[in-house]
Amino acid sequence: MEKIYERDAYESKFSAFVGEVLEKDERLHIVLDSTAFYPGGGGQGCDKGTLDAGSGLAQVINVYEKDGKIWHECEMSGSFSSGQKVEGLIDWERRYTMMKSHTAEHILFHCLKDILKDIEMVKVQIAQDGSSIFVRYPGELLMDNVIEAEKCANSIANKRLKVTVKEYKKEEIPKGTRAKLENIDSEIVRVIHIGDFDICACAGLHVKKTDEIGIIAISNLTREGTGQHKISFLVGQDAQDYLLQTKLACERACSILQTTSDKLEKTAGNLRAEKERLEYAVKSLNERILDEMKPARLKDHYLYSKLLSGMDNKKLMEKVGELIKTGRTIVLLANKEGDKGFLVIAKSPDTYIDIKEVAEKAFAKMNGKGGGQDNFISGAGEGSKLGAAFGFAEEELTEKLMA
Ligand SMILES: [Zn+2]
Repeated sequence: MEKIYERDAYESKFSAFVGEVLEKDERLHIVLDSTAFYPGGGGQGCDKGTLDAGSGLAQVINVYEKDGKIWHECEMSGSFSSGQKVEGLIDWERRYTMMKSHTAEHILFHCLKDILKDIEMVKVQIAQDGSSIFVRYPGELLMDNVIEAEKCANSIANKRLKVTVKEYKKEEIPKGTRAKLENIDSEIVRVIHIGDFDICACAGLHVKKTDEIGIIAISNLTREGTGQHKISFLVGQDAQDYLLQTKLACERACSILQTTSDKLEKTAGNLRAEKERLEYAVKSLNERILDEMKPARLKDHYLYSKLLSGMDNKKLMEKVGELIKTGRTIVLLANKEGDKGFLVIAKSPDTYIDIKEVAEKAFAKMNGKGGGQDNFISGAGEGSKLGAAFGFAEEELTEKLMA
């Protein structure tokens, strides 16, 4: 059985004859005497496309290798039978994107390795909608390092280096080849040469010349557990679209912050420092308000009530605990933080007033829920409805105390 993609990765249309046909779970699994459909491998996804037999059209949704045969898993209309001639058509956009991405991955990793010699490849994931390199690095992997590798990779890709595929016996592979030989079962190793720049053992499909890749753009860097990182990248038009989108987002942020892109980082840093300073000031102010809070005398009880915003809820609870140590006291405190509202109602042990019912109704008014003990109930709900809940609770408690 001929694997056309091994001889020519650019053949997207081919004629072949149907060999075995199996039906499984309403899908046909077809073997052909030759195929250009790549079953996937080397981290690259399989091809998709169609098989047209005249008497039926099969959508190839998965391709896999089993027992030395390439199986085409198809959703189909019409019939297929052994010996029939079919016209195969590969989804070329999908395949070509993966060929470009796979070649870009070799270059990008080589550049990374030149910058950080202790970096190790864990695995690659080559897909149509974006690809990733998973690496292990003992130090801190910074976006700056990755961007430096991106710059290097783009300059290599622009050099129009020839990409060639060669086969070697395991013991004869050229010096400097990146390969995990312990993971390769066969005696013959497929090696990809990118000009004189890179040599790497790989089962995937690649372009013939590096400038076919177009732009290579890093789209994300994430930490994947201890020492492991995922570097995501895009190629060609997708990379260009991504860069334009990023530029647009940057310009919009500049317009909001009334600054220019060269000053954006500094402006963002200043804003963050300012935000932290203001948050601290609000918290200090809130603490002062709490300390200076005076209760209302309602017949034989004291009622503390205050609506705050930007307060630390833990501090608030501590203060409530302190206030109810005084006899005949009821405390109602509310705190708005962003879109969240927090409410506490508590009373001293010598108070006969029932606060539970008031609390339940107040939490319902802010679409929230509370909990705690009969004399100390707290809960959270919607920030925008906190004012109404607080007002309701204050009125109800006053009425109860004045009764
Ligand atoms: Zn490869």
